[in-house]
Amino acid sequence: MAKFSRIAIANRGEVAVRIIKACEEMGLETVLLHSEADINSRAFRMATKTICIGPAPTAESYLNIKANIDGALAGGAQAIHPGFGFLSENADFAEAVQKAGLTFIGPSAESIRSLGDKVHCKELAKRAGLPLVPGYQGENQTVAELIKQAEKIGYPVIVKAAAGGGGRGMKLIRDSADAAELIESAQREAQSAFGSPKVFLEKYLDRAKHIEFQVFGDSTGNVIHFFDRECSVQRRHQKIIEEATSPSLTDDLRRRMGEAACAIATLGKYKGAGTVEFLLQDGEFYLLEVNTRLQVEHPVTEEVLGVDLVKMQILTAEGNFVHDPKLIRSPRGHSIECRIYAENPYMGGVPSTGLLGRIEWPEGPGRRYEYGFSEGDTITSFYDPMIAKVIVWDESRSRAIQKMIRVLKDSIVFGVHTNIPYLIEILSHKEFVNGTMTTRFIETYFADAL
Ligand code: ADP
Repeated sequence: MAKFSRIAIANRGEVAVRIIKACEEMGLETVLLHSEADINSRAFRMATKTICIGPAPTAESYLNIKANIDGALAGGAQAIHPGFGFLSENADFAEAVQKAGLTFIGPSAESIRSLGDKVHCKELAKRAGLPLVPGYQGENQTVAELIKQAEKIGYPVIVKAAAGGGGRGMKLIRDSADAAELIESAQREAQSAFGSPKVFLEKYLDRAKHIEFQVFGDSTGNVIHFFDRECSVQRRHQKIIEEATSPSLTDDLRRRMGEAACAIATLGKYKGAGTVEFLLQDGEFYLLEVNTRLQVEHPVTEEVLGVDLVKMQILTAEGNFVHDPKLIRSPRGHSIECRIYAENPYMGGVPSTGLLGRIEWPEGPGRRYEYGFSEGDTITSFYDPMIAKVIVWDESRSRAIQKMIRVLKDSIVFGVHTNIPYLIEILSHKEFVNGTMTTRFIETYFADAL
């Protein structure tokens, strides 16, 4: 059993701040491993120690395994928290961290390999008897074979990069006329974006909801779930608004999906926080993938359950966390999260960069803000344009929606454009209010926001 005194953070922005706050509460020091571009950021000002690991481009800093490990060692840390994105789901990184004598705050490299790899994960899921979207994950990657398989599955078919993530590397094939061209371009893009041309096919579900379960494996390997989140409000396959719990699950579905989520995580010998994602259509659920890390939308789960997933991750990595049945509760009330993007909502969401002016997040009960920048900081074009998350909690879903609209109307972000006006429209839309939205909600009603 280890006991950490200093933790390195291989990340930036709001999640780096989130991890620093958890460490501060636990009496732990932090070392922020940052790029040259992030010297004006909240995490930089909050960390106990900061170490510059390289220039702004991610390949030379946040994605550079050696630079991160060298930085953590030089900073005197015993463990590295990878946050989400960047190296968080990179099994080679997890392994290199252990080899350097440090602890990776996350699952083992083997778990990341078996569950985090979309194709391996499906094989494991098949063995566990979990329902999968009909598809093809074969080794034969010739265009002719992929077309044959697509016809067998039946259009529309989605082609995905095996090593892809973050909503990227996916193409929708609506009919056979476009198949060859789309498959070839998917393979090319997979190679250039993810370093491997391998793709797989899935039947495209055109009226599905995105429902996911937060799983957590403790230090003894006991995996339980912390209920579900719904993340159907998406743009370009990326989530914008998430909530806990889903307004769409019956008790029976919730129980069965929760059991399925724990079953696959247990098979993958999962430790720490992970997310099992499903698509739900016509009352049937299908495993989509497993994310072997903390999720952007983890706060909504924390709000309805009164837990701190980041602290639990750290304790688990120390070997000090065991689920206490007496503390496990049912979800209370409802929580919603909105992702605030620095972008111009009236120009198709083009990123908006520049110096931040006045920023105000209105205070009040059941309101939580996770942000990485303050007044006087600069938003650059090097990284993801998500600059903050607004999270609310209230007794019911309708009250949480009301609260979120009020909070967004009262929030002030000067200096860059944000998607706040769009978020307010989405939250007021009848389909969202009714909870009946599918993953095509934005493309159907807010096409100009795409
Ligand atoms: P990533 O790892 O890039 O996030 P996912 O496989 O998790 O990719 O899918 C992201 C989103 O893309 C899903 O939430 C869903 O909206 C859409 N999607 C993925 N696969 C399918 C499918 N087979 N049918 C319909 N939508 C899909």
